[in-house]
Amino acid sequence: MKVACIGLGAMGWPMAKNLKSAGHEVLVYTRTAEKAKRHEDEHGTQAATLAGVAEAEVIFSCLPTSNEVEEVARALLDRLRPGTIWVDCTSGEPEKSREVARMLEEKGVFFLDAPVSGGTAGAEAGTLTIMVGGDEAAFARVRPLLTALGKRVIHVGPVGAGHATKAVNNTMLAANLLAAAEGLLALSKAGVPLKTALEVINGSSGRSFATEVLFPERVLDRSFPLTFKLGLLAKDVRIGNKVVEGEGVPAPVFHLVRELFEIAKNELGEDADHVKVVKLVERWGKGEIK
Ligand code: NDP
Repeated sequence: MKVACIGLGAMGWPMAKNLKSAGHEVLVYTRTAEKAKRHEDEHGTQAATLAGVAEAEVIFSCLPTSNEVEEVARALLDRLRPGTIWVDCTSGEPEKSREVARMLEEKGVFFLDAPVSGGTAGAEAGTLTIMVGGDEAAFARVRPLLTALGKRVIHVGPVGAGHATKAVNNTMLAANLLAAAEGLLALSKAGVPLKTALEVINGSSGRSFATEVLFPERVLDRSFPLTFKLGLLAKDVRIGNKVVEGEGVPAPVFHLVRELFEIAKNELGEDADHVKVVKLVERWGKGEIK
């Protein structure tokens, strides 16, 4: 298949590479043209202009927010051919996605929201979880492409359902990260070493992705690598809050997590890695988790 990838960031870069490795013809476009050229040189894809992207049968986007998705979709609108399928892997906003889908539908283009989970490691390894909203026949057509990117590819409902599911998932990640930091800091101060506490908790009912992966791999050795910007997680938490508010669900926990992540973003900067919120909890609690 001839596919195009828009956005070559922490996630888009390895995803475009994996589509190429799966045997597809892959056009790549991103805001910084040299980056697309570098992808072409390193992975045998083809750097394209934004207009050139319209030649693809399937267009993937993996951009920071739905605003950039809308911007590129508008710029391409008059060039897109009927029957094209647009697969948006951005962690985006359900409402904005429904608007973009309606706009594209007028041109005969299908829009699927297909956000991903699994981080940069999952994107590299092609083991992402992909949650897809939109037309089921269009989903069936792109499913073979999605299986080159992820292990779990799940249709979750109409357009917007993928983004809603992703936002709720990430708000839960953010809550778990903060809760783990608070609890583990207290245990550390009480004389229970982090390694020991994690061994117990990860065999018990309080475990989460934060305790099973993030703390052992990033906090224990104090490496805090940059893989997922705090500003992007704060954006997901804001969307998660809109989802629960839109459904009339009282959600004091989601609201508190939103406030704490806005504070964290202001304190640490939006380009810091999301796990650095642990350092903020340490600062507030005057100690170190070790
Ligand atoms: P990055 O910030 O690393 O990458 C964003 C990419 O979008 C960059 O290549 C950037 O271009 C490009 N871009 C930005 N604006 C435009 C534009 N107007 N036109 C064209 N290209 C543009 O983000 P991530 O890859 O980390 O995240 C992408 C999405 O995936 C986000 O929605 C995020 O929430 C989600 N996500 C991220 C995960 C992670 O672990 N990082 C995990 C799961 C989901 P350039 O660099 O060339 O300037």
